[in-house]
Formats: sequence, structure tokens, C-alpha cells
Amino acid sequence: MRQKRWLCLLLLPLLALLGARETAMPALAPQPAGYIALTFDDSPNGSVTERLLDGLRERGAHATFFIIGQQIEGQEALLRRMEAEGHQIGNHTFTHRRIDTTGAVGLHELERTEELLCATLGGSGYWVRPPWGFASAETLRETNVPLIHWSLDTEDWSVLDADRVAACVLNGVCDGDIVLLHDSYETSVDAALRVVDELSAHGYVFVTVEELFERMGVTPETGRLYSRPDALRPVK
Ligand SMILES: [Zn+2]
Repeated sequence: MRQKRWLCLLLLPLLALLGARETAMPALAPQPAGYIALTFDDSPNGSVTERLLDGLRERGAHATFFIIGQQIEGQEALLRRMEAEGHQIGNHTFTHRRIDTTGAVGLHELERTEELLCATLGGSGYWVRPPWGFASAETLRETNVPLIHWSLDTEDWSVLDADRVAACVLNGVCDGDIVLLHDSYETSVDAALRVVDELSAHGYVFVTVEELFERMGVTPETGRLYSRPDALRPVK
């Protein structure tokens, strides 16, 4: 009898402690396996972009859209939807012109699109993706926002095959990568949504480029060309 009581006296505090631990320490959410920024150039593109936005919304994924200024007219609602659904919007010149070799003309294209984005969405300082990724030291000096290259090029515009584009990302992507795609092609939308499904199941989270910088603890600087938040693209 006495022995039993001793046992109770020993066990009770232990059980109380375990119980308390359970209530005081809820299960921790699993750490993401990594963060990935999908970027879509030459945007917006009507129903193709719309289908992509539907798919991203269903999956709780965010992306970044680099806008060609001359495509904004008539698609303002699509831009507002992108913003309302948490995507980042960037500047891809007015007519998809090279900005590294065209001097003031290229810079003017950036200004024109910046003005249109401001008029459509408010805000300012839209980050730039140079067409074809080409930038010069002069462009960087004259641009007062961060410029975003990429670290994984799917070449989706030439491949035009959802399986191959998806495989390119699934086989090559790393935590912190910026992936280049175009929302001009149904095959790219199919590939992107497949990539989100597959990698989300493995714990990856899809964020905007801006959020990728935050998650990696990097402060973006103006006039620099980034291929990832932690890697600059050399410029001549
Ligand atoms: Zn482009």
C-alpha cells in the first residue's frame, strides 16, 4: 500500500508535467523546404493570364508578372486582380525594347511603363526585368529600382511543351531560385501549375521576388541586376 502511494507521488507530477508540455507546446508547423519565385514575362495576356491567376489562387501560390506597357490598355482589370491577389508587378519596358544598347530611348520605355503602372495601380518604383535580360552599366546607373534577371531559364517560349518545361524546373530548381517563364503560352501555364503542385507537396513555398528577398534576409538595392537575392548578374 505504502509502496503504491509512493509510486503515485512520483508519477503524478511527471504526468502533470507531460500534460502541461502538451498544452503549452502546440505542434510546430513544418519548416518550408525552400522558397521559389516564379516570374512571368511579356504579361498580361488575356485569358491565358487569367487561367494562370485562377490556378495560382487555387493553390495559394504567389508569383511576379513583368508587364509590357503597350499591353496594359484593355487589360487594366487583370493587373488590378494580380495586385489584389498578392502577386508582384514589374516593368518590362513599353514595347519590349532592349535597354542596354538604346540609351535614352530604352530608359524612356521604362518611364512610360512606370507611369502607366502608377496610373493603373497607384504606387511607384516598379522593379524592372530588362527584355532578354540585357542591361548595361549605364542602364544600372540610370535606374532607381532593383533589376531582376533569373537563375533558372526554362526557355518555355521555344520549348512549348508543358512536360519538358515542368521537368526543367523540377529537375533544376533550388531554394531561392528565380524562374523565368512567360504567361503568353498555355503550355507555360500548365507547366507552372504542375510545378506548384509537385513542389508544394515537397514543402516548397511560392513567393513574389520581393518576398524572396525578405525571406533570404537580403535588402534589394537600386541599380543592381540580381539573378537571385544572393547573386548579382555581371554587367559590362
Ligand atoms: Zn520579355
